Amino acid sequence: MTIFQKIINREIPASIVHEDDLCLAFRDVNPQAPVHVLLIPKKPIVSLDHLTPDDATLCGHLLQMVPKVAALLGLEGGYRTVINTGVHGGQSVFHLHIHILGGRPLDWPPG
Ligand code: 5GP
Repeated sequence: MTIFQKIINREIPASIVHEDDLCLAFRDVNPQAPVHVLLIPKKPIVSLDHLTPDDATLCGHLLQMVPKVAALLGLEGGYRTVINTGVHGGQSVFHLHIHILGGRPLDWPPG
């Protein structure tokens, strides 16, 4: 079981900023910007590489939740979304998640 599944199950604590039937958003324990939140599906999908056609509605919901969570967090100036996929993509937790980063101007390109 991944650490994010334990957060969904309330087996370990997290600073939760949004929850609904399909997803959960909580603050990253090691923030890379003044605001750094992870938006995850409750369904334990490993990564983008593991999506199936059955996940289309869920994916739409997740994307539509991004600006809502960003607004909740006060990110009026803009924000960045990142989905790391696989080892070369820098993924370290193998439960699909969207990073939402903001609260300061962010450099581009990333490393
Ligand atoms: P990835 O590297 O897989 O794209 O992102 C995983 C993220 O999960 C990292 O930014 C890391 O700081 C965060 N993370 C890892 N373990 C925990 C945890 O136990 N709680 C929270 N809130 N975030 C975690």
